[in-house]
Amino acid sequence: MARYTDSVCRQCRREGEKLFLKGDRCYSEKCSVERRAYAPGMHGQRRRGKTSEYGLQLREKQKTRRIYGVLEKQFSNYFDKAERMEGVAGENLLILLERRLDNVVFRLGLASSRAEARQLVNHNHFMINGKKANIPSMLVKAGDVISVKESSMDSPKFQEIKAAGAYKTPPEWLEIDIENLTGRVLSLPTREQIDTQVNEQLIVELYSR
Ligand code: SF4
Repeated sequence: MARYTDSVCRQCRREGEKLFLKGDRCYSEKCSVERRAYAPGMHGQRRRGKTSEYGLQLREKQKTRRIYGVLEKQFSNYFDKAERMEGVAGENLLILLERRLDNVVFRLGLASSRAEARQLVNHNHFMINGKKANIPSMLVKAGDVISVKESSMDSPKFQEIKAAGAYKTPPEWLEIDIENLTGRVLSLPTREQIDTQVNEQLIVELYSR
């Protein structure tokens, strides 16, 4: 499976803002954006010139892709799908990204970052509606129940979460029962319920060129 091999923190520095890709470290003073607030690479500390309209659109797309950990081709497939759906393409795009299983595991507070959630899903620790679910890009629907597999419940990772509580409070469209390590999709999210700080309209404009 293709994946990023670049340093995760470099991606934040490239975007010039925190994308919260590393869990706890992102909230500590070890965060690279806090320590080195300039773009990576040899010319990273040079003053940036005025960014063109195209540049802004491109950066917004890259930022969104990096936040959700989605590769270029897959992202463009999501956009095609979003455009074919009823409603506003940009909002549909974000809703599709939010529905990914790895994102839902993260949003439920069962992983400290989307990257960790993706790894836990890949390692076969989750089920959807009692069935095997080990593909991070699986899309959840309203009413789905996401649970930790019986055989994984005793693993130190999940015991730790049970003892300490979820990493975060889930958004309104999700519900978590931390005692049973089970989450439920109450409804699909609306744009207002997605706190990802991106301007999706710029992405629509980019793909409409
Ligand atoms: Fe980004 Fe987190 Fe690394 Fe900070 S610690 S640069 S927010 S991934």
